[in-house]
Amino acid sequence: MASETAREAFRRQLAAMGAEFVRQLGDRLRELEELLHRLEREAWADDALHTFHRRVHSLTGAAATFGIAEVSEAARGLEGILREAVEGTRKRGAGTLAELASHLRRVGEAAAGVRVEPARAPEPERAAAEADLVLLLDGDAETTKELTAQLAYFSYRVERVAGVDEIVAAARRERVVAVLADLDAVVDGDAPRPGWPDALHGVPLVCLASHGDMTARLAAARAGAAGFLTRPVDLVSLVSRLDAIVHRADGEAFRVLVVEDDASLAAHYAGVLASAGIVVQVAPDPLAVLPALADFRPELILMDLYMPTCSGLELAAVIRQLDDYLAVPIVYLSVEQDIRRQMAAIQRGGDDFLTKPIDPAHLVEAVSARLRRFRRLRAMMSRDSLTGLYSHTHIKESLRAEVLRARRHGLPVAFAMIDLDRFKKVNDAHGHLAGDEVLRSVARLLRQRLRKTDLIGRYGGEEFAIVLPEADAAAATRVLDGIREAFAGLVHRFGGAPVALTLSAGVATYPQFADDVALVAAADRALYEAKRAGRDRVVAARPPAADTTVLVVDGEPGVTRLLESILAPTGVRVLVAHNGLAALELVVRERPAYVISDVVLPGLDGFELCRRIKGDAALAGIPVALMTVAKSGEKLREGASAFGADVFLDKPLAEDAVLAAASRLAALAARPHQPD
Ligand code: GH3
Ligand code: MG
Ligand code: MG
Repeated sequence: MASETAREAFRRQLAAMGAEFVRQLGDRLRELEELLHRLEREAWADDALHTFHRRVHSLTGAAATFGIAEVSEAARGLEGILREAVEGTRKRGAGTLAELASHLRRVGEAAAGVRVEPARAPEPERAAAEADLVLLLDGDAETTKELTAQLAYFSYRVERVAGVDEIVAAARRERVVAVLADLDAVVDGDAPRPGWPDALHGVPLVCLASHGDMTARLAAARAGAAGFLTRPVDLVSLVSRLDAIVHRADGEAFRVLVVEDDASLAAHYAGVLASAGIVVQVAPDPLAVLPALADFRPELILMDLYMPTCSGLELAAVIRQLDDYLAVPIVYLSVEQDIRRQMAAIQRGGDDFLTKPIDPAHLVEAVSARLRRFRRLRAMMSRDSLTGLYSHTHIKESLRAEVLRARRHGLPVAFAMIDLDRFKKVNDAHGHLAGDEVLRSVARLLRQRLRKTDLIGRYGGEEFAIVLPEADAAAATRVLDGIREAFAGLVHRFGGAPVALTLSAGVATYPQFADDVALVAAADRALYEAKRAGRDRVVAARPPAADTTVLVVDGEPGVTRLLESILAPTGVRVLVAHNGLAALELVVRERPAYVISDVVLPGLDGFELCRRIKGDAALAGIPVALMTVAKSGEKLREGASAFGADVFLDKPLAEDAVLAAASRLAALAARPHQPD
């Protein structure tokens, strides 16, 4: 670490990103092939075409960024044709489809020449030796003991050092995450002691001080401190700080979304930022930014002020309407020189203004500083203050991201929810503080028993949520059951007689459940079953049965065929009806696991079909999804809820949405119909 220059670190990062890109190339190509089929199947539907174009566009840019010229060149040819089709200067017909297919083959051939490294092996169980090293320069034995014990739970290893020489020696020997130093060891009055901050060799310094007045903070800053904490040290602040530092050093690259309609300018910014190790996604169309936000989760948005479909100001106002993106920095890029108009732009929700043309070094600097601050803020917000675990929002976001990653790599991911049994009694009998102590002990136990790669959150009150990447149902259930047993074995003393407590857990696994929403619903339901079955147990959510029969209803044979083509590969038997009465007959006779129906149907409409199913005691347990045209959705949905519909599906149908709805329907079908 000490000897690695920033430039070398960049190169290492870039190489790692490139390797990751190469590993994903196969998935990307399969996705493009699927999109080509979809284009054909859906007769050049706009949505299919735009998605296809976007994906190819990003492949072109990414391949170029990582220096894989053959792939980038071949993809550029494909992109050209798609762009013309989007713009309407090329005929959307069979001839063009054939051309696209041939170009896509060429991309495939180019990709085949690229060396693909084997996928990363799953991380082994957490080993003490791999914990990140933190050096502590502090004379106080009590502090040392306490921090060593507490930081161990967050997989930081603390080593006490006596002075500058030992810091240097340790940094030569291995990678040091940070130096925690008593302020007095580092500064004298308002100036650094001799040898500081050079002694750090670039290792981040966090000062621990007895008071936080301006003089002390300034002195620490002069000594090179990246953090300043007052005693008694708040563990959550310290860990957040260390996490932020480690992430930076580990090279989890920053993500920046560039919203710029000018393709060459966008590519230029993307190139400049990528060369500084920042991962960039370009959104050429401001109206398509929302899906990019959800998918890519940028940590900063770089935005052109003047764009054809909507202005940067308008787009910023829309982004600020969304709670999830309230804090993401928005930086405008514009030729605007007028300071008053710049101020007006900032009032609308932007954070800063960079004037075009912008010097590359300045761009990187301005963007990096904001990215660092944003991450720090997020790290603080993402932890629960009682337990130091991830917050509800953070754990849900992580689940979403992990499912997307699992889908790309074809790996499983498990989600577990834990709820303490009869916890209210603890509070009632021993007081709230005793209850809090139990919650902390659960957090400690979870950290001890789970891998470093598992994400642990406090979901709310006395509920905890865990994301276990790469764990299948059997592995996750085993781990959770171990935790259950260990917790039941703990003895809690609240001043009086020892008290034993238990917990219950529900586990659900991707790909048995198709997305984060289905996983949360399934784990929650499994937890509920564990409680009903008597508590102190772990229940795995049952995956949808393989011999399931489902019914799809639409007046349009093209639509039922599309639904069949999406659902059949998941292993279900698909029944089809083209009018409401035929559908009802099939429901009565075949008792499908669930029904997906259009609203507008010949004879009996979708509402009426739904009402009759829900009105019949023998059929009422069959979940129903109604398909509505997205644009006219709201009103229809209100009506549909009144008729008892369980799930809604937007038309035009997207494959992902159908699969997610099917997974939710299957989860609902698996639920015991009768509540207790
Ligand atoms: P069971 O889950 O087994 O059905 O019973 P329970 O008593 O645990 O269930 P319930 O959800 O009714 O009660 C949860 C209790 O958790 C309510 C509240 O007193 C307690 N609780 C929630 N958050 C906290 C917290 O932050 N600190 C403490 N001490 N107690 C909390
Ligand atoms: Mg509860
Ligand atoms: Mg409880």
